[in-house]
Amino acid sequence: MNRNFSAFCAAMLAFALMLVICGGFWANNKKFSLAETESTVKTVYLTFDDGPSDRVTPKILDVLAEENVKATFFIIGAQAENRKYIIKREFEEGHTVAVHSYTHKYNEIYSSVKNLIEDIDRCNDVIKGITGSRSSVYRFPGGSFGLSGGLISAVTAHGMRYVDWNASTRDAEICDATPSQILNATISTSAKAENVVLLAHDSTTKTATAEALKDIIRYYKDNGYVFGLF
Ligand SMILES: [Zn+2]
Repeated sequence: MNRNFSAFCAAMLAFALMLVICGGFWANNKKFSLAETESTVKTVYLTFDDGPSDRVTPKILDVLAEENVKATFFIIGAQAENRKYIIKREFEEGHTVAVHSYTHKYNEIYSSVKNLIEDIDRCNDVIKGITGSRSSVYRFPGGSFGLSGGLISAVTAHGMRYVDWNASTRDAEICDATPSQILNATISTSAKAENVVLLAHDSTTKTATAEALKDIIRYYKDNGYVFGLF
């Protein structure tokens, strides 16, 4: 009886310890919350997914340099391997180079935890090969919306912090979007947020995004935003 009771106590203690350890771990490896980046000034985080591309990314980098604004690039590893000079430029000009995917093939990466983590690591290997260090910043292809809790917790347990978005250029939704449509979408989706995470793309078809970027930055500057970096 006593031995059983001792075993029970030991098991409960181990369970409690596990909760404490895991609680701390998850608390330190969660999603970026906008509250934690809140400050007394309005902040916008410009984020560009699905690059690098030879056609669009350099144009975006030119505008960012002219405007002295930093951004976060969620890159596709397979594309970066043939365009190391662009990733190098992003890094050297003070932008964040972050993990999006190696293949960006939803049916492969989301088919299992193992595939997802391998995809992240493969993308991070490319980043490390170019910049010298891995990134812990991640964006799920398509966003985390609707993904299983198992996939999300595997990513955070792997030491990654992920970020979605709360405003969008809609450059991936509107077919052949014009620069003015992109600017209007940016303004209408940003209107109510003090802290904005803006989704945009620098893949090869998104020339209109690069063309709209100067006006997008102007809008945020005129409305008192500062530019944040993940
Ligand atoms: Zn993507």
